[in-house]
Amino acid sequence: MHDAEHLMRRVIDACTDCDCCRYTMDTNCLFFPEIYRLWDREKETGERITPAELRHLADLCNYCALCPCPDIREDIITAKTLFIDRDGLAPCIRTLEDVERVGKLCGAAPRLANFLLQGQITGPLIKKAAGINAKRKLPVFPPESFPAWAHKRKLSQKPRTNPRRKVAYFAGCTAQYLFPDVGQAAVDVLERNRIAVYVPEQHCCGMPSMLEGDRELTLRFAERTVLLLADLVDDGYAVVCSCPTCGYMLKNALAEFAYYSQAYQDFAGGDERNMIIPNKAPAPAAQPGQCGMPAPYQATFGGHHMSRKTVEMAKAAGGGTRKIELRVLDKSIYGKILKDDGYFAGIDPLKRIKVAENTHDLGEYLLGLHHRGELDTRLGPHPGRKAYYPPCHLREQEIGQPYLELLGLVPDLAMEAIQSTAYCCGIAGIMGFKRDFHKASIQMGSRLMAKIRQIDPDQLVTDCLSCRLQFNQMSAYPVQHPIETLSQAYQNTEVK
Ligand code: SF4
Ligand code: SF4
Repeated sequence: MHDAEHLMRRVIDACTDCDCCRYTMDTNCLFFPEIYRLWDREKETGERITPAELRHLADLCNYCALCPCPDIREDIITAKTLFIDRDGLAPCIRTLEDVERVGKLCGAAPRLANFLLQGQITGPLIKKAAGINAKRKLPVFPPESFPAWAHKRKLSQKPRTNPRRKVAYFAGCTAQYLFPDVGQAAVDVLERNRIAVYVPEQHCCGMPSMLEGDRELTLRFAERTVLLLADLVDDGYAVVCSCPTCGYMLKNALAEFAYYSQAYQDFAGGDERNMIIPNKAPAPAAQPGQCGMPAPYQATFGGHHMSRKTVEMAKAAGGGTRKIELRVLDKSIYGKILKDDGYFAGIDPLKRIKVAENTHDLGEYLLGLHHRGELDTRLGPHPGRKAYYPPCHLREQEIGQPYLELLGLVPDLAMEAIQSTAYCCGIAGIMGFKRDFHKASIQMGSRLMAKIRQIDPDQLVTDCLSCRLQFNQMSAYPVQHPIETLSQAYQNTEVK
């Protein structure tokens, strides 16, 4: 087992040896400019990178997954976790990272919470105590949370009948406690398409605490979520997420490396000689320090150690079978490298896979309906010019930008998409709230804000509610989740 400093040194050695991210990641990530600055200084002056600098470096990564190597960010997050295991977490971060607890607490008495948070004397005191930068705007809590609304609508009970289509809606903490209109719009659009919606009692997906290196809290959240959703999948539910970060967590991060587990190998027909992984399984670097970008990785596995086969496998939910393409790898070579030894290895790998394979981004789910001719396209006009910002964790789900096509169905709506690879909003989860990161967060977001001013839309549209907080901080444009736009377009049909 490596210690935290050793792991960070390993990341530095790999990334400076490779150098691919020196120029490609210098605007959208705080980590890479710093790694190369420290490395260049060490080379030029001989001044060694200190343990404190290694710690700070790890803190700069927010696991946005924009960089190409899963192994590298896994090492950074593991190092961050080891730092916290050893040195502990500051009490103010412990408060901030538990978005669910903050949401529940403030949501229980929103008028009082808003009075205190927005108060001229109390607001700055609360920010100081919580380690929040004095210039950061605090969100306003709505009079009714989404879980309270869903409970009143009896959505927190499973449907009594057995509908043809049913989804378990995973709203995420920000929609649950800060922007309930997003959850309500999601329910509205799904119900208009005759899909039964169940809103189970749910917990944080675990991403905010994972980013802070709080392993205990993250695993507690993640395990509860996996067990809850795996049971619902067994019950025939598809899981849908309106939050791209929750979606990325459930579809990608939790399942990372699970296909290498013995349990999956037994399930998929691996044996003493062959490892079997789906073609879409995450791609770790084959050698320490080797760049895991898709092309070299494919080259490595494209040689004589790999073959492919297509098999029929039982669907994890809903019965029937589906065809999936598998890679068959030489176990004598890859068995030593490909292991389920990542962050979530302690949680049942088959349940992690079951949840991952049956979770859909809400836009992806609706677009699937549309492509099968099953989406209600009676959408009313929604005049205006909107700029759509696709968030980083949507990109990492590799599903394209489903809402662009869906919003293209809305009459009179002009959409301009901003290229997500070129711009970052800079909020980075709760990082942008922290006293010491606020300035860097604003700097990172300033290019995107300049781009938005250049487009000068009537409204901004983004599916990430953390991005929405940053837009509210840095611009005066109104912001919507695309599902709210769709819901309004359905309502406009009725008034036509
Ligand atoms: S090893 Fe991967 S993350 Fe590091 S610089 Fe190379 S491509 Fe980027
Ligand atoms: S995950 Fe995001 S923040 Fe972390 S190193 Fe990669 S690009 Fe930078």
